Amino acid sequence: TEDELAAGRRAYDLDRRHVFHSWSAQKQIKPMTVTKAEGSYVWDGDGNRLLDFSSQLVNTNIGHQHPKVVAAIQEQAGKLCTIAPQYVNDARSEAARLVSELTPGNLDTVFFTNGGADAIEHAIRMARLHTGRYKVLSAYRSYHGGTALAINVTGDPRRLANDYGNAGTVHFHAPFLYRTQFHSTTEDEECQRALEHLEQLILLDGPAAFAAVVLESIPGTAGIMVPPPGYLAGVRELTRKYGIMFIADEVMAGFGRSGKWFAIEHAEGVEPDLITFAKGVNSGYVPLGGVAISDEIAATFADTAYPGGLTYSGHPLACAAAVATIGAMRDEGMVENAARLGSDVFGPGLAELAERHPSVGEIRGTGAFWAIELVKNRDTREPLAPYGGSSPAMNELIAACKERGLLPFANFNRIHVVPPLNVSEEEARTGLGILDEVLDIADSHTAE
Ligand code: PLP
Repeated sequence: TEDELAAGRRAYDLDRRHVFHSWSAQKQIKPMTVTKAEGSYVWDGDGNRLLDFSSQLVNTNIGHQHPKVVAAIQEQAGKLCTIAPQYVNDARSEAARLVSELTPGNLDTVFFTNGGADAIEHAIRMARLHTGRYKVLSAYRSYHGGTALAINVTGDPRRLANDYGNAGTVHFHAPFLYRTQFHSTTEDEECQRALEHLEQLILLDGPAAFAAVVLESIPGTAGIMVPPPGYLAGVRELTRKYGIMFIADEVMAGFGRSGKWFAIEHAEGVEPDLITFAKGVNSGYVPLGGVAISDEIAATFADTAYPGGLTYSGHPLACAAAVATIGAMRDEGMVENAARLGSDVFGPGLAELAERHPSVGEIRGTGAFWAIELVKNRDTREPLAPYGGSSPAMNELIAACKERGLLPFANFNRIHVVPPLNVSEEEARTGLGILDEVLDIADSHTAE
């Protein structure tokens, strides 16, 4: 309606005057207004409907405004909006039980945080106190959050502006065959060599110094590089050999995104010491993250106080949303739907796009978690935008998606296909159709 559009325009003017945005040069941005969202769709400030192929920041795994979760939040709000973390609360207890039940192995205790970055901060703090060691290993081409330590273990260019040295972090190359650091020609070779490289780093940097390896089970924002078979098991073996805690970061890959509840389950039998989660745990309807803790690490804090906490740890509204989200995901088979979409729609559909469009260097992914790696030249693999940057071609492509009613997730030279897990097959195919059209634009920037 006219009133809604006017309200949207006022919100935009106030935003530009008073709101400070993440990761942005404040005067260079023209943020999109969202007036409404439902299911797999959002509506912009001009009243246009867009199919949300981003799930926002890859967090609305159950889509927007799921009625069961909205009702659960309303009910909890009527009952008890907030209570300090030292008190027992039924929503928090039940959310912790469900997370413990879903995580692999003996990760039976949960520390709730406000989001992903503080989950990483606390997981590392726990690993340091448990081992009595300080240094942390993490991968290049990774994202772990925006707070001091989380951005330092992060391996993307955003770390550099926040790096004052001496955070105790050491970075390694995880497997990425398409842009191999190891001159590999097969996934097996890449896996083997990446593990040798990791062991070398541990040995050269002092095996007794490392408290933890922090690793996304499937790196997300950095490009959805599904690890080759054997890699995560190899990391588990190395961390056991040298007494290092294995922190699996499932903030983006977890809660069904990869077609399993946790992406680490693709590596059968691999049980990390700590799992960090956020986003999909309640689809971000109310901010929530956490750390699932092994019995061994939990035992360290059985009779010694854990030196950490948060005013909103286990916030009732967030936990009630998590309980309802997990319930809806189970009842509606959303994880199974993501797996099916991956194998039947996105896998084959994106492979077709790769065949048709010379700008597609590689497609990779699983479940509802896919990346299209765009290149100027398939032989040299020169990316369509530089690492850490954007390009006119990428900006044109993103604008063309929106003009055609698709909200994409873009990072550097990649478009990610990361819709809600309960997107319908028809919506999924519509999205792929729009991508097919706009990839012609990318093709016009290629050398072929
Ligand atoms: N870890 C991973 C793998 C992520 O993808 C993110 C966010 O994108 C984070 C941690 C940080 O989470 P938050 O933004 O909730 O602090």
